[in-house]
Amino acid sequence: MGIFSYKDIYIEDGKRVLEVNILPEKYCNFDCIFCPIGRSHNKVDKPQAFDDMDSSINELETKIENNNVDLVFINSKGEALVNNKIDSIIDKIKSKGINVRLLSNGYLLGRDEYIKIANKCDEVVGEIKVITEEDFQKIQRPLEGYTLKEYISNVALFNKQYKGKFILEITILKGYNDDEDSINKIKNIINQISPDKIIVARMEDERFKKKFGITDERFIEISNALLNIKQCLNKK
Ligand code: SF4
Repeated sequence: MGIFSYKDIYIEDGKRVLEVNILPEKYCNFDCIFCPIGRSHNKVDKPQAFDDMDSSINELETKIENNNVDLVFINSKGEALVNNKIDSIIDKIKSKGINVRLLSNGYLLGRDEYIKIANKCDEVVGEIKVITEEDFQKIQRPLEGYTLKEYISNVALFNKQYKGKFILEITILKGYNDDEDSINKIKNIINQISPDKIIVARMEDERFKKKFGITDERFIEISNALLNIKQCLNKK
């Protein structure tokens, strides 16, 4: 048995998507207070070695072959880039002629070793959740020395050189980034990063909805404002 875990295959835009977690437990460079996976006991940003990687990669290969998969989405329990075999995992998927989408919180996209890995993927999803340095430290609790300024700049610089499709997921959190001033700041961040696609999300997890959830009405307003800026960018 390998260490990877899978979601049931689903269809997205007519494509069969296999979603895979490539970490045995949570490994992340952040420790967000609203993390659905729980606390980060392994708070790391260096490559980590895990047991049973060969059998895990073989199992993934078999799943791809048996399920007529069009896209493999690497969506892990934390930051997938820290698995020291991620390069081989992506190479294996690509060798089957299958597209790869990688979810990363985005901070490590500023480092050469990780840029090379992410560049192999057809799609990369990066995330932005707060827009002030204080909130970044307080609610995303990153590794020491990390700053929001560097976070945004890492993602922006990555996307400048990236040839694939860059998707930016922005999560709206009540009391943190849902007022007009914050929405304007998010618009500036979108301009700086210039993603190919924007996903606007909100806190859906029941455990955190009361503290961070916003109303349907406000969510629609903010989504329209942010998706509209993307259309403007596309026209440039
Ligand atoms: S970046 Fe994602 S996985 Fe990491 S602690 Fe935050 S919510 Fe959890």
